[in-house]
Amino acid sequence: MRLTMGFVKVAEGEEKGKLPDMRMNETPDTLKTFTGGIADTNAYLYGCPEGNILIDAPEGTAEAFQGEKISLLFLTHGHFDHVWDAAKIARQHGCPVFMHTITETMMADKNLLRRFGMDLEVEPLAADRRIGEGSCSFLGRDFEIFEVPGHCPGSLCLYTAGEEGKPGTLFGGDVLFAGGVGRWDLPGGDRDLLISGIQNKLLPLPSETIVHAGHGPSTTIGREKTGNPYLQQIIP
Ligand SMILES: [Zn+2]
Ligand SMILES: [Zn+2]
Repeated sequence: MRLTMGFVKVAEGEEKGKLPDMRMNETPDTLKTFTGGIADTNAYLYGCPEGNILIDAPEGTAEAFQGEKISLLFLTHGHFDHVWDAAKIARQHGCPVFMHTITETMMADKNLLRRFGMDLEVEPLAADRRIGEGSCSFLGRDFEIFEVPGHCPGSLCLYTAGEEGKPGTLFGGDVLFAGGVGRWDLPGGDRDLLISGIQNKLLPLPSETIVHAGHGPSTTIGREKTGNPYLQQIIP
């Protein structure tokens, strides 16, 4: 079993490659994806009117996006596979880093990875802006930030509405996946919190909203509403 599945609960029969590639809805100018590290974690470089925002920083991201201009780094949550290259990227690009205060605390916790059974350390990094739920604008684009704990305390999802009739975009971190949801049995996890957060904050988004997840392929809110086995019990 690959470690990827260690962070994701995905129902049997859901496999990469079966889904239409939702990332094709974006041009290479507006969305670039890198998948790296031992958990096959996704990083997204998203083009905004006034610069590029990098969402998450798995191992190898700094090298993969070396030639790109990164104007802002947004961390969805503090699990090591999402923050591995964060300090390196902040240093190389001199970009501000936005994260939840819990993510900042997790990165500074030298014992955290030992609790995951790993003898590793993530380079700590201070937030330039500590963020939580609410509306905000940066790099010339309006975003809505949802705090959805349950997989990891302080987990943030970043949503931006679509322009000119295009679907909106949600960078969901490890909250909602194609056919799955985040694991809730890691330290600080809580199944009810996770499912109710998805129900109350993510599922009300327009069905066509594209979800770029922290692992695996991208999906849509509508597809998960009808087909995600972890959500069927809460959908009337
Ligand atoms: Zn995670
Ligand atoms: Zn992850």
